[in-house]
Amino acid sequence: MSSNSELQAQDKQYLWHPFTQMQDWIANNQLIIERGDGIYLYDTDGKKYIDGVSSLWTTVHGHNNKKLNKAIIDQLNKVAHSTLLGLGNIPSIELAKRLVEITPQGLEKVFFSDNGSTAVEIALKIAFQYWEQVNVSRSGRDLMSNIQLRKKQKNWKNKKTKFITLKNAYHGDTVGSVSIGGIDLFHEIYKPLLFNSFKVSRELEEVEALMKSHHQEIAAMIVEPMVQGAAGMLLQPKGFLKDVRDLCTKYNILLICDEVATGFGRTGKMFACEHEKVSPDIMCVAKGITGGYLPIAATITTNKIFNAFLGEYKEQKTFFHGHTYTGNALGCVAAIANLEIFEKEKTVQKLLPKIKLLKKELAKFEKLPNVLEVRQLGFMVGIELIMDKKRVLPYPLELRVGHQVILEARKLGAILRPLGDVIVLMPPLSISERELKKLVEITHEAISSQIPPLAFLQQKRL
Ligand code: PMP
Repeated sequence: MSSNSELQAQDKQYLWHPFTQMQDWIANNQLIIERGDGIYLYDTDGKKYIDGVSSLWTTVHGHNNKKLNKAIIDQLNKVAHSTLLGLGNIPSIELAKRLVEITPQGLEKVFFSDNGSTAVEIALKIAFQYWEQVNVSRSGRDLMSNIQLRKKQKNWKNKKTKFITLKNAYHGDTVGSVSIGGIDLFHEIYKPLLFNSFKVSRELEEVEALMKSHHQEIAAMIVEPMVQGAAGMLLQPKGFLKDVRDLCTKYNILLICDEVATGFGRTGKMFACEHEKVSPDIMCVAKGITGGYLPIAATITTNKIFNAFLGEYKEQKTFFHGHTYTGNALGCVAAIANLEIFEKEKTVQKLLPKIKLLKKELAKFEKLPNVLEVRQLGFMVGIELIMDKKRVLPYPLELRVGHQVILEARKLGAILRPLGDVIVLMPPLSISERELKKLVEITHEAISSQIPPLAFLQQKRL
C-alpha cells in the first residue's frame, strides 16, 4: 500500500474532484479516507472523524454496517448486474414493490436510475412526454405514430412544455436539472445550454398568479419538499407544500417532489411530503435509498402518468430513456436491506428524541456573534454565519469562512462540508445522543474560532 504522502501525490496527479477548485486542492494537504465504521470515518493516518454530513447526505445506518455488507455479499455470489433493458432482475422487483408500499399513496410505478440528477432528469422528461401523449386526442383504433398524428392534426401543438421551479433551487448537475436550478454560483455559466423555466419565490400568491396566467404552458412544478437543501437549508413556510399541491391540481399541472436530499428519514418522517400529507404525481429519490452504499435512484410516478405511455409500439409512446446500470442488483439489495433496517430497528421513531436533543443543543448557536440564523428540519441543519450580526454584514467571499470552519472541525474530529457560509449538519440517522452532542460541541467550537476580533470589525466600520 502506498504511504499517505504517495497517495496525496497520486490523488493530485490523477484526479479531478467534484465542486472543487483544483488549484487550491493541489496546493494544500488533503484528507484521504481509508475506512469507515458506524458514524466514523478514518483517514490514512488512522485519525477518526465523526461523519457530520453523512458522506454528502447519504449514510443512514452507519458505515461498514454488517447487515448491508451481508446483503451485498450474498447478492455478489449470485450476480452483480444484469440489465433491465429487456430483462427483469429479482432485487429490482422486490425494491420497486417496497418503494411503492412506503412512498405516498398514488405513486405506483418505479423507474430506476443511478443518482439524484438522473432521477430528476427522468421526471422532467416523463412530465413533458406525458402532456405530449395525453393532449393528443385519439380514437381507440387510431394507431398512427405520434409524429404522423401531429402532422394530421395541423392545429395541434402541445403547449405544456415548461416547468416552474423555486428560486435558489438545486436539483442536480445534468443539463436538464441545471435548467430548473437557481444557484447562480453553480448554474450561471451554463445559461446558454439551458432551457428556460419559471422561477418563483416561496410566496404562494406569486405561485398562484403564475399558474393562473400560464397554466396552459406548464407541464410541472418541481419542489424540494419542506426544505431546500443545497440552497442553504431554507425552510418553507408551514402549509406551503400542501398549498402548492392544491394549486397544481387546480391548474392541471403535475407536481414533482424531489426527495433526493429529504427522503429516507432525514426530516423526521420517511419522506418530507408526509409532513403535509402530500402525494406528488412524480417523486425523485436517491442518496439515502441504499443507506449511503451504492448509486441507486428512482423516479416514481402515478399509474395515470404511466398509462399515458402505453400503446402499440408503432404509436411511439415508449419512454425512450435508460441507463446502463439501471436497476443494478447490488444497489437494489443494499436498498432493500436499508429499508429492512428502517423497519426492524424503527429508525424513524428512534430519531425523534435525537431531533429534539439536536434542537436543544443548537439553541446556543444563536448566541454566537457570528451566527445569523440556525435552520433545522429533523436531521437537516444549516447554521448561517455572518461577520457582523448587528449590521448584517456577511464575511468577505475571499475569507471562505465556511471552509475555515470545516478545517477547524477536522482538527477537532468531525468532517463537515459547508454550503458557502452555511455550515451543514446532517449526521447519519444512527448517531447516538452522546455522539450527537459531541458533533454539536465540535461545530460550536469550530464556528467560535472564526468570530472576527472586535478591532477588525471596528476597522471595517470606518
Ligand atoms: N436533488 C437534490 C434535492 C439534491 O440535494 C441533490 C444532490 N445534493 C440532487 C438532486 C442531485 O443528486 P446527485 O448528486 O446524486 O446527482
